[in-house]
This record gives sequence, structure tokens and C-alpha cells, in this order.
Amino acid sequence: MYAMVLNKLKAPLEWTELEDRDPGPGELRIKVGACGVCRTDLHVVDGELAEPHVPIVPGHEIVGRVDALGRGVEGLELGERIGIPWLGHTCGVCPYCLMQRENLCDRPLFTGYTRDGGYATAALADARFAFPLGERGSDESLAPLLCAGIIGWRSLTIAGNANRLGLYGFGAAAHILAQAARWQGRTVFAFTRPGDAATQRFAMALGAAWAGDSGQAPPEPLDAAIIFAPVGALVPLALKAVRKGGRVVCAGIHMSDIPAMPYRVLWEERELVSVANLTRQDGLDFLRQAPQMGIATRITRYPLRQANEALADLKAGRFEGAAVLIP
Ligand SMILES: [Zn+2]
Ligand SMILES: [Zn+2]
Repeated sequence: MYAMVLNKLKAPLEWTELEDRDPGPGELRIKVGACGVCRTDLHVVDGELAEPHVPIVPGHEIVGRVDALGRGVEGLELGERIGIPWLGHTCGVCPYCLMQRENLCDRPLFTGYTRDGGYATAALADARFAFPLGERGSDESLAPLLCAGIIGWRSLTIAGNANRLGLYGFGAAAHILAQAARWQGRTVFAFTRPGDAATQRFAMALGAAWAGDSGQAPPEPLDAAIIFAPVGALVPLALKAVRKGGRVVCAGIHMSDIPAMPYRVLWEERELVSVANLTRQDGLDFLRQAPQMGIATRITRYPLRQANEALADLKAGRFEGAAVLIP
């Protein structure tokens, strides 16, 4: 097998031939058809997460086919199309696992961060964390649903029953979530980097009622806002944009520092929460409904070997929607 391997933090990934790996008990091997590029992958490469771990194969939006099954795996067939998400393993016995909050597991493994992921021609995965995807849609169009879609969905659920919804940072997650929120009948307000007219047009084309710069006030107060951009300075801006009792959800795994802000920005029962990871139930809920939502992902394809270019383009905001690697 071949993979783009991160051998050193903050260094380019390296195209590497690796021994073929056999799935252990409870594992499967997936022949990768497509792997989405997530902003979290940039944080992994840049060593911005709590447990930097190299060498590692990044990538946690994997779509492909079951290629080999380890001992004891049931309910999946060779050749079946599946998706592998960020949550790669949970312990099942810690307090969080026992209270149905496995996204907060004390001893988890994360695909493409603490276990090898999908920037590769093949990957191993804990079979209990694989989602059957059926045959509808192409591998590359489905890949961004595996993280941008599922974690966006969890964020939307945590945003609550908010009709006027603000999305800060209109990248892979927001472009999927805007479509899901519109399908639910919500009104979407999109906030982009200042002056990013192209992304604002993209948001409007996906059904946003308004799109503007992140520093701007929306035309009416928001009921909730979700921040996808890894920019702590957006927190006070979003809190100012929501009404009394409104909620601001930080959806990313990493953010720059949140600047000091006057207490009155939070006053009047505004809430600030973060979303961490996903549960398998989030994935099942979202992937079951995604076909009815009519979500069309905007993707830019890169050959697997050009993973570094894809990451650089993501960092620079050079495409709309999501990048997907094709082995
Ligand atoms: Zn656990
Ligand atoms: Zn992700």
C-alpha cells in the first residue's frame, strides 16, 4: 500500500510505500476510494492538537470498500461500501461511554490523528466505527459528509431549535450544513473572511438569506451561531450577533485564543459551548437523512500524491467547499 505520511510535525507529508497490513480481531481493511481533507488535518500536521503523534497517516473522511475482515467482524461484507469517520475507537467502559457520550471517551482513538487514516490506498479501522454507505452517490461526493457533515450535524443539533442560524466560516462543514439547515426550514446567515465576495456568493447560491463579512452585524439578531473557522476573535463577534438567550457553538477542535471581552457580551443568558468529536449515533442519524436533504457537496479533487497541495489550498482558502484526495 501507499500513503502520504506525516513523519515530522509542520513538515510536508511524504509519499511512502508501506507493508500491506492485515486487519486484527474486530478490524477491517478498507480499499480507499476517496478521502476528504478536513481542517483538522491541518491542525494535525501543524502540531496544534493536544497529542501530537508521528509518524501518522492523516485523513478521517474515508470512503471505500471492505477489502479484508478480521476475526469476529459481523454485519459487514467484503466489497461493501463504507465510510470511516474521525471517531476511530472508544473504550466502552469509561463514565462517558457509559452515559452515551462516547464522543467524550477517556481513551479514544481518532482516525488520522492517533491511528492511521485515509491519505492512503488502504486503511485499517475498528469495524464497529464503520458506517455502511450504500451505493448512492460517488465516493468523492460522499467523503466530506464523514466529518464536515456529521460534526456539522452534531453542531446544528447542539445549536438547538434556532430559526435564524449564523455560520461563521463558510468552508466544507458550513457548505453542507447550510443545505441541511435550509432543508429543515431554518434561515441561514453566512459570515466569511472580510471581503471574500466569492465565498459570500457561494453561500447565497446554497440558500443563505444573507452573506457578509465576519465583522459585520447580521440584518437581524440570530437565534444561534456556529463557528467553524479556527479564529477565537469570532467568539465575541458571534455572541454580539445572537439575541438574548442565544447560543454560540464552537465546532472546531482547535481555535486561536479568544480575546478578552466585556461580560455584557455574554450577559442576558447567552450561551457559549463547544462541540467535541461525534458519536456513532450522530453519524447514523445524519447519513440516514442526508439523501433526503438533497445535499450536493462541492468538491475539488486532488490525486493522493498532491495531499500537500490540497492542504495548502485549504489553508489559503483557494477553493469553495471541500477538497478530496483520490488514490
Ligand atoms: Zn470510553
Ligand atoms: Zn474533520
